[in-house]
Amino acid sequence: MNLHEYQGRALFKAAGVPMPDGDVASTAAEAEAIARRLGGTVVVKAQVHVGGRGKAGGVKLAKNAAEAGAVAGQILGMSIKGLVVQKVLVVPAADIANEAYVGLIMDRDSQRPVFMVSPAGGIDIEEVAANTPDKIRRLAVDPRYGLLPHQALGLALFLYSDIAKARAAARIMEQLYTVFTTNGCSLTEINPLVTTPEGKVMALDAKVIIDDNELDRRPDLALLRDESAEEPSEVAARQANLTFIKLSGNVGCVVNGAGLAMATMDLVKYYGGEPANFLDIGGSSNPEKVVNALRIITSDPAVKAILFNIFGGITRTDDVANGIVTATKQFKVNVPIVIRLTGTNEAEAFRILKDVGMTALSDMDEAVRKVVGLVGGAA
Ligand code: GDP
Ligand code: MN
Repeated sequence: MNLHEYQGRALFKAAGVPMPDGDVASTAAEAEAIARRLGGTVVVKAQVHVGGRGKAGGVKLAKNAAEAGAVAGQILGMSIKGLVVQKVLVVPAADIANEAYVGLIMDRDSQRPVFMVSPAGGIDIEEVAANTPDKIRRLAVDPRYGLLPHQALGLALFLYSDIAKARAAARIMEQLYTVFTTNGCSLTEINPLVTTPEGKVMALDAKVIIDDNELDRRPDLALLRDESAEEPSEVAARQANLTFIKLSGNVGCVVNGAGLAMATMDLVKYYGGEPANFLDIGGSSNPEKVVNALRIITSDPAVKAILFNIFGGITRTDDVANGIVTATKQFKVNVPIVIRLTGTNEAEAFRILKDVGMTALSDMDEAVRKVVGLVGGAA
């Protein structure tokens, strides 16, 4: 789950990370009032779940309250990488002497939180990573001991040769590690971490991604979810209790069980197709889940054919067949459906489908080759 900057800032501040005080606004008038209260030059920042807001015109300086209102009026409602800005953050502008990067991610290879830091932070960090990777230093943290003081200082000295600044940055890294571990994050990032002309070190941005698996035990964090900023199909799937991840292909997949779903996607790719989604309707699927699954998949215009791959165990294949029939009565499915069913109540399932003129296969390989052939893949 992605957090907005203003939400991430609250977690950072609770851990003691130095950041300018600010506030969030939904209208230009609110932004102007905040800027008036803060006084002086402010920065108005689009609150959307993407990086690169600065380059897209979503981060602007304003010299006074009136200008902040005008700038907020421009940013609110603008679209950044397809996301419409609904809120802006207004913060006092900092004087920047230098911009560094500090990120902490959960790394699958080392199975540890890994720090990545660079003295060349700011809006071009992706280019730094691509062109001058030696300007980035990595450190995997052993979760048994946490980030040790000498490790934090070592990373900080890669950013600043000045010991006072390095000590300040080391503290911030320890605080960032605390945010990461106490909130079940998969990513926490400060870009830019700045120094001011007076030598102060502080964070001017806050990016936080919370591991979705953390949310059941942290209802306080779950409340931070902004569904209006998420992929609509994934929101609908979550509300329908389906495990769904949108992908970029054209073969819609409806499968029961995560392992079978992975195997199905592998086979689709093996025969030259591209899955449009990962979707697990779960163990004890009822017909309604199937209806919801089909509704979500057919709302994606990229989907050119749909593959059902159901292995009936606890899942009753007649329930799935009933779901398919109900769905096609409730709304028009304009793409071909290939159905593979086997297991519990399969004779009943085949009969239900036959009654409405649909057929099902029992062989997975055959079904996958058929659906890939239908979308024009190399079957
Ligand atoms: P992002 O582009 O989405 O990562 O948004 P950031 O919050 O990182 O802002 C982008 C850039 O705007 C930063 O790298 C800074 O150069 C600039 N910026 C942000 N806040 C301030 C500020 O308080 N003062 C000044 N002078 N520039 C700022
Ligand atoms: Mn940033």
